[in-house]
Amino acid sequence: MTSLLSDANQRLDKALQYVTLHPDAIERLKTPKASLTVSIPVRMDDGSLRVFQGYRVRYDDSRGPTKGGVRYHPSVTLDEVQSLAFWMTFKCAALNLPFGGAKGGITLNPKTLSKFELERLSRGYIDLIADFIGPDIDIPAPDLYTNPMIMGWMMDQYSTICRQITPAVVTGKPIPMGGSLGRETATAMGAFFTIQTLMPKFNRQPSSTTVAIQGFGNAGAVIAELLFHAGYRVVAVSDSQGGVYATQGLDIPSIRRTKEARRGIQAVYCEGSLCNRIEHQVISNAELLELKVDILIPAALENQITAENAARIQAPFIFEVANGPVNSAADAILEANGIQVFPDILVNAGGVTVSYFEWVQNRSGFYWSLEEVNQRLETKMTQETERIWATAQELSCSMRTAAYVHALKRLAEAIEAKGTQDDYKS
Ligand code: GLU
Repeated sequence: MTSLLSDANQRLDKALQYVTLHPDAIERLKTPKASLTVSIPVRMDDGSLRVFQGYRVRYDDSRGPTKGGVRYHPSVTLDEVQSLAFWMTFKCAALNLPFGGAKGGITLNPKTLSKFELERLSRGYIDLIADFIGPDIDIPAPDLYTNPMIMGWMMDQYSTICRQITPAVVTGKPIPMGGSLGRETATAMGAFFTIQTLMPKFNRQPSSTTVAIQGFGNAGAVIAELLFHAGYRVVAVSDSQGGVYATQGLDIPSIRRTKEARRGIQAVYCEGSLCNRIEHQVISNAELLELKVDILIPAALENQITAENAARIQAPFIFEVANGPVNSAADAILEANGIQVFPDILVNAGGVTVSYFEWVQNRSGFYWSLEEVNQRLETKMTQETERIWATAQELSCSMRTAAYVHALKRLAEAIEAKGTQDDYKS
């Protein structure tokens, strides 16, 4: 099997067919700048000691301190963290944020740890990576199965080590610890702005557009609700256990409320405290991806659409809210079938964009209203979506390739500004 990083690198190769860059810049972007592997000893509640594997990768810092989340998941490997750090590099450049790309992760099933164990693990991770991060070096944030509480522990631990309160070292913190309003909903909100910008270009109206969403976490559930309120017909949603499908459309706010209360997805319609099941089909995650809908939103894990199932995808539009849900082999099949894929490095960039706003607020000590955060997010997402769309039209290429070309130009400018071979030749 090809590594995730070499698969990610194929996107770079594809984009390079459309843009001439200095070979020095290309060489720099092929491999991560620094990768750290740590073993984190954790005293468990029963007194035993367990050692967890953790990683932090700083991929490229030509455009600024590196930025990216930390995920807690059983499938975390160094290869995965490196490819996610690669995507963060292009995501930050695509949105013109003054950051490079990074990612972190710990290999574990977070659902099997108590809160005390998670706190000891999170603080232990920071003890081991403290020299590798910092507000002007590398700034962690939430990702899969990490949340504001965990970010708060991380910031607190770093501050203890440095003997000074350092809120700008981590983003996605709880609001009283310097978090930004709007950060928790930012990924979904950003994706929503891209959908609202792009769908009119295909003469699509919300009321006649059906949507299927894989993943009902921080991103999936919020985008489902935003689309529901905007008048889209959300016909299918799923979580890691499976999903529900109802052609007449689902009542997303009710499903969210019952999921929070009972921890599972049920096709319900609630009035007051009374929830009734609506007519629906129970479907698997694999089936959800192949539904005949207008918009498909993978908002869970990477590698969901591959050469194995790409030919069976029926949705004409895919918005990648997860990182890397479509692999490069699937890209070619989807493109040949006329399916438009709107790429992760644009669609889910709302999260890191509001992380940037949080970092700015922490450093200036001046905090913004929710309206201000969302307004700035909308401006940024709309602006860069339009630019990438224009590049795709100009080059007659896919939106993914256009997003990479757009990001690459900015990355190359920064790399070349530090000097290339030509500067030293004569
Ligand atoms: N984990 C998120 C992402 O993949 C957010 C990263 C951040 O806020 O730094 O984009």
